[in-house]
Amino acid sequence: MRRHSLAFRIVVVFSGLLAVVLLASFVLVSVVNLRISRQTAAQALETGERVFRRLLDQRGEQLTVGAQVLARDFGLRDAIATRDNETLLSALDNHGSRIHADLVIFSGLDNIIQADTVNPARAGQPYPFGSLIAAAGKRGGSTGIERVDGRLYQLVVVPVRAPIVIGWVTMGFEINDRTVADLRAVSGLQVTFLGDAPGDGRRVLASTLPAAQRDALGGKMTELRAVGRATLGDEDYETRLVLLGDSLEGPVEVLLARSLAEIMAPVYRLQITLAMLAFAALAVCLLAGMRLAGRITQPLRQLAAIADRIQQGDYQQAINRQDQSEIGQLAGSLAHMQTAIAEREAEIRTLAFQDRLTGLPNRLRFNQLLDDAITAAQTSGESLTVLILNLDRFQQINDTLGHPMGDRVLIEVGRRLVDAVRDEDTVARLSGDEFAVLLPAMAVDAALPVLERIHGMFDHPLQLDGRPLDIRAGMGAAGYPEHARVSIDLLRCADLALYRAKAARQRHLIYNSGMQHARETHLSLLGELQTAVQQNELKLCYQPKVALADSSADEAEALVRWIHPERGFVSPGEFIPFAEQTGYIKEVTQWVLRAAIHQIGVWLQTGRAIKVSVNLSTLDLLDPALPTAVASLLEQAGVPPALLCLEITESGLMEDPTLALDTLNRLRNMGLALAIDDYGTGYSSLAYIRRLPVTELKIDRAFVIELAHNESDAQIVQSTIDLGHRLGLKVVAEGVEDHATVEVLRRLGCDRIQGYVFAKPMLADDFVAWHTAHQQKTAP
Ligand code: C2E
Ligand code: CA
Ligand code: CA
Repeated sequence: MRRHSLAFRIVVVFSGLLAVVLLASFVLVSVVNLRISRQTAAQALETGERVFRRLLDQRGEQLTVGAQVLARDFGLRDAIATRDNETLLSALDNHGSRIHADLVIFSGLDNIIQADTVNPARAGQPYPFGSLIAAAGKRGGSTGIERVDGRLYQLVVVPVRAPIVIGWVTMGFEINDRTVADLRAVSGLQVTFLGDAPGDGRRVLASTLPAAQRDALGGKMTELRAVGRATLGDEDYETRLVLLGDSLEGPVEVLLARSLAEIMAPVYRLQITLAMLAFAALAVCLLAGMRLAGRITQPLRQLAAIADRIQQGDYQQAINRQDQSEIGQLAGSLAHMQTAIAEREAEIRTLAFQDRLTGLPNRLRFNQLLDDAITAAQTSGESLTVLILNLDRFQQINDTLGHPMGDRVLIEVGRRLVDAVRDEDTVARLSGDEFAVLLPAMAVDAALPVLERIHGMFDHPLQLDGRPLDIRAGMGAAGYPEHARVSIDLLRCADLALYRAKAARQRHLIYNSGMQHARETHLSLLGELQTAVQQNELKLCYQPKVALADSSADEAEALVRWIHPERGFVSPGEFIPFAEQTGYIKEVTQWVLRAAIHQIGVWLQTGRAIKVSVNLSTLDLLDPALPTAVASLLEQAGVPPALLCLEITESGLMEDPTLALDTLNRLRNMGLALAIDDYGTGYSSLAYIRRLPVTELKIDRAFVIELAHNESDAQIVQSTIDLGHRLGLKVVAEGVEDHATVEVLRRLGCDRIQGYVFAKPMLADDFVAWHTAHQQKTAP
């Protein structure tokens, strides 16, 4: 990542560009320099050759002048004439040393050496360089390069006249390492004299070259002649080979050489300076580039870091807007984005986790909080308690007072719940009229006072628009860890406790394993129920529905009883719901219908026209064959359809409203009476019931129990009765236990009453006995 950062790339690009430019100019300068150097070297060699030749000429002239002075010397001529060899030799010596000549020879016209300063013993021997004397004879003097005793000499020959020529003076400078050193000093070149070697080519006569390079020369002659360039030892030279002349022992050449390294030395120095400059420039560029890039990318990096943290959910960062540059604008956008995301996320969180109506946490949030609380309790070893609360008769409030009022009830209940618990407790609305309370660090046994306090808060009616409204609720509680260890089970336990509380019509219950056990018992009962139907363990009881107008008891509800051979009496509340869940209820209904219709027929034959109500379940209503089955049963028993009433619950209608409605219509068309059972506990409204072909409305027990003492219950019952009548329905009140309630119901205009106040459900024989007694009692 870091390697490819923007700053890195900026620095690399610019430094790279600079490096390329520097390298190119460096190469160019080097190539040009090399070429110039070689040209310079060639020129230097040319100049060197000229200088060298002039030097030789000067020495030649010096020798000539010296030799001429000697030739005119009187003493010399005298000594020649007197053949005084000793004086001759000393004259030669004197003149020679005056100009530092290394060799002076006098030879006669007979070409015999008469005196020789180098080797006096040579006197009497023939003079070797006849060609020089021949040339001197023609021009009055000659010069040449010759070897004497293996040494190389530059020689001049002049005649000695008296006045005719009487002999020849040869004077010479030796050419040795000292001479070449002088030549090098003047010309600046390496100077090497080469002569013929007997047998193998050339041999070095004198040289300024170091010994090793001098030795290497012999093998390089062809190269030297051909290209004028050679590598000697480990040094490169530009060279020039010059022929000086032919000596007796062959041609004598001089090799002028210029060391390339020497020529290039200033170039190299220049190149090093250049390279150093380039490096310095690069370094400066790198540093400056890094600073500049840093300055450009630093704010970008800051923004990137901020964006990273936004991604991780941190929306509280301070973003410096900086300037008006693009980066400043970017920072501005980022700041806006941060706030926008934060707001939106907060909104989403609220939407997802909050109940809109009450502002309380919703089910999702409650589950999270419960999970967290359980985790905390696991570590701390503490307990916690969960309560579930469900309002009674809430749908009726909605129906009779309207939804806006229902909403206000829910809001108020939520508020009161929050007031009733501690600050650390959580109140949530799970759904509809269901609330939950989480009590952390509280054992379920210790929660009883809380349950009481919550119930206490319902003791004061709600005041909505100055109207008192009485609200009641059922509650179930379960505790961690004794009842369950995970949230879902804990909620299920509390739910089961609530369900049990409602079924038992208690204000609240704390979960116990028996509840679960009861549920399991139901399951095993179910298997036995099937045999019960076949073996006639079921019995029907009849409970009268007494008309308030004339006290007649010509209607009754058939209620099933199961007399189990071992368990004894099993309440229908225990097995009916489970038979419904498994579908076996159809068999039960068949049995009840058959038994009830048969009983109506029997009573009819004995002169009693009793209209009997039979309870139907959800599944029965969804059975299209039901009307035909009922019709054939009625026909078999000879019972007019008007003597049979079918009680249905609202939930039975909800499953598949179209199909249920169709079945109901067919039944009603057959002439049967139809009743809505348990009215007020379900969710359907009177507006919906208006569309059903029913004849009777049975107000649920829940509204009746406290009717005599509770104003708002009375209000609801009053409006239900009024609405029922307006829809042309008879209204029956269930579960009436005392005469005070009977009187209230009479005042409110209720049609019939069913309840212990008149009679409990009774077997057919008991019913007949009760009925007879009742008729006598109420007969005018
Ligand atoms: P339900 O249809 O609401 O029946 C009325 C219940 O109220 C009966 O309970 C009855 O005994 C009880 N009851 C009557 N008067 C009073 C009173 O003054 N005070 C009190 N506290 N209770 C009173 P039961 O017989 O235990 O039946 C319970 C439920 O079982 C019935 O409620 C009904 O939903 C169901 N059920 C009973 N028999 C049948 C049946 O044959 N078929 C079907 N599908 N369901 C049945
Ligand atoms: Ca009923
Ligand atoms: Ca009922």
